[in-house]
Amino acid sequence: MTDAPARPLSAVPLKLFNSLTRRLETFAPVHPGVPGDPANPPEARVYSCGPTVYNYPHIGNMRAYVFADTLGRTLSYKGYKLTHVINITDVGHLTDDADAGEDKLEKAAAEKAQSIWDIARHYTEAYWADVKALNIRQPAHWSIATDYVPQMIEFAKTIADKHCYELDSGLYFDTSTVADYGRLARHATDEGESRIDPVDGKRHPADFAIWRKTPPGEKRQMEWDSPWGRGAPGWHLECSVMSEALLGFPFDIHTGGIDHREIHHPNEIAQNQAHSCSADSGARIWMHNNFLVERSGKMSKSAGEFLRLQLLIDKGYHPLAYRLMCLQAHYRSELEFSWEGLGAALTRLKRMYKAVEVQMWKEFQKTGTAVASPAHFEPIPREKWSETEALGYLQDFDEAISDDLNTPKALLVIETVLADPTISNELRWHFIATLDQVLGLDLLQNGRADLRIRPKAATIDEQEISELLEARQLAREQKNFVQADEVRNILLTHGVEVMDGDPLGWDWRLGA
Ligand code: AMP
Ligand code: ZN
Repeated sequence: MTDAPARPLSAVPLKLFNSLTRRLETFAPVHPGVPGDPANPPEARVYSCGPTVYNYPHIGNMRAYVFADTLGRTLSYKGYKLTHVINITDVGHLTDDADAGEDKLEKAAAEKAQSIWDIARHYTEAYWADVKALNIRQPAHWSIATDYVPQMIEFAKTIADKHCYELDSGLYFDTSTVADYGRLARHATDEGESRIDPVDGKRHPADFAIWRKTPPGEKRQMEWDSPWGRGAPGWHLECSVMSEALLGFPFDIHTGGIDHREIHHPNEIAQNQAHSCSADSGARIWMHNNFLVERSGKMSKSAGEFLRLQLLIDKGYHPLAYRLMCLQAHYRSELEFSWEGLGAALTRLKRMYKAVEVQMWKEFQKTGTAVASPAHFEPIPREKWSETEALGYLQDFDEAISDDLNTPKALLVIETVLADPTISNELRWHFIATLDQVLGLDLLQNGRADLRIRPKAATIDEQEISELLEARQLAREQKNFVQADEVRNILLTHGVEVMDGDPLGWDWRLGA
């Protein structure tokens, strides 16, 4: 996402947790510009490690992008001109994060007897569909690894002599040639190293492939010529090369899941230090989201049916309920997935949407005239904050989100604003528009009806449900309760539960 805000920077300084220093740090951009000057705005340049497109993303992967999106939205809201890059890994990522195993895409292509390019295109599009469904904003660049192979070879040439050694299997980075290798990794590298299958001739277990030669007599679907023979780049190379090409060196923030803190990012940092002949890691701040965990192992892509967003939708859960589930936890906390937890998030979202509808209804009752839809209300510009009656809410929200993206606290501010009887609806919609820029829950655009998704397994459609509900209502009005119960039972056989007097105002729901 690249945007050019004209508004001045928000007052509370943005504090972010830097995994490299293990401290909260005030965000200080590499390109500070002139706050308030649209011609030279302060910038924020962010790189997020993207998906390896050999399979569908699971919802844990998507947590990483909800987090990166929340970071991007916060930077835009705070007044920075954001340039966000997310890469698409279509080459180089082996079945083990270190150098053992096969290329994930070569393996998937062989198993499915398809071209690697078709596999990559199919799963990239599936990932983009999830991005859209979760209201994740488009980054300025989706950088595709295979588009950058010549640049990767050029990068490798600059570090080969001083930092690499060649083996029969490829060109390897000698991690002892850079200072402080693995500083980012939280644990001593022993644990990480012991699970890495050794590659013959590696000088140190943490050394990693810069270039993987195609073994003699073999042909890979994806291979290129290089000074070290025909082959393919090592996985870590792409992020060093693409981040520098698109964001410059150094840039502001690099994101990824916590697994990347152990191998992928330390290796990127080592490459960046070698290439820049400095101790610079390449990004000022390294941020990592904790994992979404699921105890029964359904998150594993190798476990047949695994938890992908489409499965949630097929079961009748709106994707924004999953977005809210992510936002309810701090990004640095582990989040346990359960269907009950997802159901609770859906109910919470319904309550928020209902609060908007209720406030509109109250206004309609008061004025007796049609009420304007809140969907087109604009966020309140920062310079106008002090003029609003309820500045306190804006400050509470600003403090929460500026405190290392405290989304659980920020959500409470939204709920308080929705319920406050003392503020006018006009002001309320401006508030919500301001706060929802960051949370992306479409609070003013969607209604409760939008949240109702028919599960794939349902044997009845919405039209039939409405007709049966009308017939039941008529029977009740005629005091024919036997018939009313019969209709209710027909609905039940189709898995539709009638909800008389539901506090959220839904007249029916489909059992999950
Ligand atoms: P991959 O497609 O495996 O390269 O992963 C894409 C992103 O998802 C990376 O940033 C990973 O660190 C992140 N990730 C992987 N598993 C999970 C999980 N269970 N919860 C949160 N993030 C994850
Ligand atoms: Zn990466």
